[in-house]
Amino acid sequence: MRFIIDPPPQSSIPVRDSDARFPVRRVYCVGRNYEAHAREMGTDPNREPPFIFQKPADAVVEDNSVVHYPPQTNNFHHEIELVVAIGRGGKNLSLEEANAHVLGYAVGIDLTRRDLQLAARDAGRPWEWGKAFDCSAPCSALSLAGKIGHPSSGRIWLSVNGVTRQEADISQLIWSVPEVIVFISNSMVLQPGDLIFTGTPAGVGPLVPGDMVAGGVDGVGTIGMRVGASSQTS
Ligand code: MN
Repeated sequence: MRFIIDPPPQSSIPVRDSDARFPVRRVYCVGRNYEAHAREMGTDPNREPPFIFQKPADAVVEDNSVVHYPPQTNNFHHEIELVVAIGRGGKNLSLEEANAHVLGYAVGIDLTRRDLQLAARDAGRPWEWGKAFDCSAPCSALSLAGKIGHPSSGRIWLSVNGVTRQEADISQLIWSVPEVIVFISNSMVLQPGDLIFTGTPAGVGPLVPGDMVAGGVDGVGTIGMRVGASSQTS
C-alpha cells in the first residue's frame, strides 16, 4: 500500500518492566462513576446506566509529560482515573468473561476544559470540545494483569503541588470494571488496543501553568505531569 501522505504515528503507552509497548486504538471514558463526584457535578448519583464518551487515541501522552495549558478555557481540570487496557477483543461479553479480555491496568488523567464541557452539557450539545482536545489523556505505563491481577479495591489519589485533591478507593466505582466492559461490548465491538478510563472520584479542580500533578492507584501505578505555559498561539 502506498499512502499519499505519511500515515500518522501509532499512539502507544509503555508496558512496565518490558521493552514492548501497548498500541492504542480507542480511548473510551466513563462519565460520573463515583457517587461523590456525580454530586459535585450537580447530577443524580443514583445508579443509572453508565454513559461513555471517547477521546482520540493521539490525545494520550506519557507519564511525566508537560501538558501545555490548552486553548479556549479558563477552567482546566484534573480527573484521576483507573485505566483498563483491552488485550483481547469481543462483543456481548458476560460479567464472567470480562476480565479475560483485560491485558492490564494503568493510571490516567482525564483532562477537561470544564467550562466548555458544562456549557455544552447545559446546551444539550456534545462534550467533545471540553474533553477530546490535544494531550487530554495522560496515561501511565501499563501494569500487566498477569503480574498485578485484576484490582477491585485500592486507593486512588491525585495531588497538585504536593497537596491532595482527590482521594477515594476504586471499590467505590458505581459501575465496576467488568460491568463497564460488558456495557461497552454490548454497544461496540471491543478490540485489542482499546483503553477505558473508568471515571473519577470527587475532588476535581482547576490547574494553572506551573502546577505539578501526581496521582496513582495503589497496586497499579503512578502518573505525573506538569502544566506548561498556555498553548494559545494568538
Ligand atoms: Mn472522567
